[in-house]
Amino acid sequence: MATTTLKGQPFDRPILDSMLRRRMFYTPSFEIYGGTAGLYDYGPPGCALQANVVDLWRKHFVLEEDMLEVDCTALTPAEILKTSGHVDKFADWMCKDPKNGDIIRADHFVEEILEARLKGDKEARGLKVEEKEEDPKKKKKKSKATEAIKLDDAVVKEYEEILAQIDNYGGEELGALIKKYELKNPATGVEPSPPAAFNLMFQTTIGPSSNAPGYLRPETAQGQFLNFAKLLEFNQQQMPFASASVGKSFRNEISPRAGLLRVREFLMAEIEHYVDPEGGKKHARFHEVADVELVLLNRHTQLAGKTDVKKVAIGKAVADGTVDNETLGYFLARIHLFLKKIGVDQSKIRFRQHMANEMAHYAADCWDAELQTSYGWIECVGCADRSAYDLTVHAKKTGAPLMVRERLETPISIEEWQIDLDKKKFGPFFKKDGKTVEAAIEALSQEKREALAQELKQDGKIIIDVEGVGSGKVEVSKDLIAIEKRTRVENTREYTPNVIEPSFGIGRILYCLFEHNYWTRGGDGGDEARGVLSFPPPVAPTKVLLVPLSSHESFKPLLKYMSLKLRTLGVSSRVDDSSASIGKRYSRNDELGTPLGITIDFQSVNDKTYTLRDRDSTKQVRADEDTILAAIKSLVDGVKVWADIEKELPAFEGQETDIPVR
Ligand code: AMP
Repeated sequence: MATTTLKGQPFDRPILDSMLRRRMFYTPSFEIYGGTAGLYDYGPPGCALQANVVDLWRKHFVLEEDMLEVDCTALTPAEILKTSGHVDKFADWMCKDPKNGDIIRADHFVEEILEARLKGDKEARGLKVEEKEEDPKKKKKKSKATEAIKLDDAVVKEYEEILAQIDNYGGEELGALIKKYELKNPATGVEPSPPAAFNLMFQTTIGPSSNAPGYLRPETAQGQFLNFAKLLEFNQQQMPFASASVGKSFRNEISPRAGLLRVREFLMAEIEHYVDPEGGKKHARFHEVADVELVLLNRHTQLAGKTDVKKVAIGKAVADGTVDNETLGYFLARIHLFLKKIGVDQSKIRFRQHMANEMAHYAADCWDAELQTSYGWIECVGCADRSAYDLTVHAKKTGAPLMVRERLETPISIEEWQIDLDKKKFGPFFKKDGKTVEAAIEALSQEKREALAQELKQDGKIIIDVEGVGSGKVEVSKDLIAIEKRTRVENTREYTPNVIEPSFGIGRILYCLFEHNYWTRGGDGGDEARGVLSFPPPVAPTKVLLVPLSSHESFKPLLKYMSLKLRTLGVSSRVDDSSASIGKRYSRNDELGTPLGITIDFQSVNDKTYTLRDRDSTKQVRADEDTILAAIKSLVDGVKVWADIEKELPAFEGQETDIPVR
């Protein structure tokens, strides 16, 4: 499959963008009102492509692993997102230009200016500048920052180190970098204000009362967590298992840009895989993927200011501890296989590990599948180990049992320090504080209990910390409490599962598919170059183009007949019976990424044989109706590729000639 433009032509993003809009893959929302940044509508081919990618996602993950799919609401009461930590922590760092009021995302600002300075340095040294394409709208603004000025070698090194770990900086550090390197907004020449946190959630009220604040969800995950107990019951208490969800999420991005890559409303496909934290988070099917090779960029490399990657089998990466556990590794490999299946260029995938500060507030380890585009490396799938964070906070807040209770095959004896309170005396003694003191005693750890048992024996009393009672120190005498070491037999084990979460941004993936599958074909006989989108048949919006050789009446019944046959097979097709040459009609549909073409000619009318044409190679085969339909079905289902069909069916090389109808 072609992944770059052919014949040495450089990749031209504005041409691809205009083709995508002209063919209505997607278009700015509310465009006739001037549009709104970060909001897009999908047109017919965009919808079909998205539906096909989501369908393959369901087959690859939900079906393959018996995941439990849920569809939860996007409107979420504030209390839930407060508990999950999003109200306090789901924020990006934002600066303001005091002169013109420009709102700037701090990390992107630092990144862009340092990159521009490095580019200027390369130009001054006469070195080749690797183009990371700019937003054409921004070109004018940035020209000031990209002057060819040579930097000291030490400064170049510093900049490179900062850029390698840009995602690791918080607001204060970004502010310090802006000051230290005198980073000015190219539009005004003024240094922006210090970074302030900006929460990315859209706030609303649920119902007419302002007492019921809510948010549009920033991820589908919370709905899945809140249904955990019911899903576990649905799964007949069997662990491990996963839930999955496909739905819209909303983030009020500070500066949406780069088309579908950073938008304010986007489709997410998320998996929450629940795993026992004990026993190293093994995965029963890990051996199936152990040999899958991934390109990894680990956190140590980034912290050392570098971006060197290593290609390693996931089995090895888990064995040597680069990837924390088998379950995380299993999903990284499965993500890789999915991306490959839908047509992502394999040489443009890497998995980047998050650095400590960069990790979301809930995550214990995280790797992003990043895809290379003309905008640089873009995170398209996040794969985080969310540990037991979410289930724990929601259980604590609501008292709901978001945990697993397993019957132990062999009961276990546990030696532990147990506390007995003399309830008859305890209540009257502490009066209104009784419950608080009792709760503080119940919460004491085993180590503390052991120490307090000694204290009680020696002094006849203990002193414990109880927040909110008296001075915060409470004395309990030996006539109210006893602490003893006893043996308890446990028949069940309770634990809060850990969650491994692969989280896919479908819009970002679609955009990468456009770039990775786009190339241009020089037109025959001096025609202008034509854009081709080489989507694999299973994801292509339309699968088959039906072209009659000419507008001859005798072709019409066959066109209808073949359309019906393809519809019956569930294969989408389009007829192009315009008067343009066959070659032209095919190349028009190359822009839509239609992988297959059936030509209906006079021979078809006579003997019901058809030619089947492959978009990428333009090679053709010819066979009878059933054989052609079977070949199409196998290609669309991803069971075969064109090379198989070419081996199986006779090539058709002759020009279509006007064979008279018998
Ligand atoms: P996160 O929860 O931030 O790891 O995001 C999960 C996935 O959602 C990312 O890997 C992206 O593919 C996608 N995503 C996040 N933010 C945006 C956005 N503003 N626009 C489009 N996709 C996004």
